Amino acid sequence: MPKHAFLSASSSHRWLACPPSAKLCAGADDRASPYAKEGTDAHALCEYKVLKALGRHPPDPTENLDYFDKKMDDCSDEYCSYVLEQYEAAKQNCSDPLIMIEEHLDFSQWVPDCFGTGDCVIVADKVLHVIDFKYGLGILVEADHNPQMMCYGLGALDTYDGIYDIEEIQMTIFQPRRDNVSTFSMSKADLLNWADTVLAPTAKLAYEGTGEFNAGEHCQFCKVKATCRKRAEKNLELAQYDFEMPPTIDDNEIAAILPRIDDLIAWGSDIKEYALQQALSGTEYPGYKVVEGRSNRRYSDEAAAAAAVSDAGYDPYEKKIRGITAMTSLLGKKKFDVLLGGLITKPPGKPTLVPESDKRPAINTAKDDFKDE
Ligand code: SF4
Repeated sequence: MPKHAFLSASSSHRWLACPPSAKLCAGADDRASPYAKEGTDAHALCEYKVLKALGRHPPDPTENLDYFDKKMDDCSDEYCSYVLEQYEAAKQNCSDPLIMIEEHLDFSQWVPDCFGTGDCVIVADKVLHVIDFKYGLGILVEADHNPQMMCYGLGALDTYDGIYDIEEIQMTIFQPRRDNVSTFSMSKADLLNWADTVLAPTAKLAYEGTGEFNAGEHCQFCKVKATCRKRAEKNLELAQYDFEMPPTIDDNEIAAILPRIDDLIAWGSDIKEYALQQALSGTEYPGYKVVEGRSNRRYSDEAAAAAAVSDAGYDPYEKKIRGITAMTSLLGKKKFDVLLGGLITKPPGKPTLVPESDKRPAINTAKDDFKDE
C-alpha cells in the first residue's frame, strides 16, 4: 500500500484547512458507506453511457450494479447529454478537441504521490474543461474555488499544457439529484499561483503531520471528528460561554454565538453517535446505559391483516396520490412538467435564520412591516 495515500484530492478541503488532520485520519477506520457504493455504481453507468455515445464499445455494466434504478438511469442520461453538449461547444472553437473519460490525473508535482480520476476532461485550445459527476444528495457541492476540482485541473494542465494552447481552466460539478450544475473558471496563471503558494506548502505540512489543527465546518468530513481534541476544545469553549455572562445574554452576544452554533450541534451529535457505538461494543460511561429506543407498532403479516379486515366487511386499503419525487420517477421529468407543471405550488418555507452569505433573499420581518407603516 502506498504510504502517503492519506493526501487525496477529495479530502483536500479538509487537510488544506487543518493540515495535521491528514495523518490522524490515515490511522482511522475507513468503511465504504452504502452512499459511496451507490456513487460508484452511478459513475460506472455514466462512464458507460458517455463512451457509448462517443462511438466506443464499452461493456454494459448495468446488470452488475447493485444500486441501479430509474433515478440512476435518468441522472446518467442527463450527465451524458451535458458532456456531449460541452464537447460540441469545444469543437466550435477548436478543430481537434480531446475528450477523456475516467482520466488519470497526476498532480504529484504539488501534492506528494497524489492523483485522482477526472470523470470527464475536455481539452481544447484556450479552454481546458474538467467535469466531475456527483451522485450525492445530501450536500450541495459548489465548483467555486473547490480545491478538489482545482487539483484535477492542475493534473490535466500538467499533461496537456504545451500540447494545446491553454489559457483558462473551467471546472464543473454536475450534481443531478440536486439540480446543480456549478461551473467555476480560473486563468492558468491564477491556478498555478494557487498551486505554488497554497496547495504545495500546505500539502507539505499535511504530509509531515505538522501545521496547526483548525476546527471548522470542514470537520464534518473528518474521520476523527468525534474524538478530536481541537474540535472538542473549540466547542467546549463555546459551551462555557453562557456561564460567564450571567444572568442573561444580550443580542450582541447572541450574534457572536450564532455563527458557531451549527458546529456545536454537529459536534454534539457526532459525540453521541460515537459514544453509542462504543457503548454497544462494551465501553461503560458513568451515569449512562443503553436501552431500546421507541418503536412503532406494525403488522407482523400485512396480507393476513388486510384479509382479516376485508373478511369483516371493511376496506383495509387507502388510496392516495404519489408524492412529487415518486411521480417524477414514474413519468420522467419532461412528461411530469407537461402534465403537472401547472398544478405544482410551493408554499413558503418555515422562516430560518441563516448567515448573510446564504444565496436566498431575505424575507420581510416584523421590523420591515413596521418600517412600511
Ligand atoms: S476534527 Fe477538525 S480540527 Fe480535528 S483533526 Fe479533523 S479537521 Fe482537524
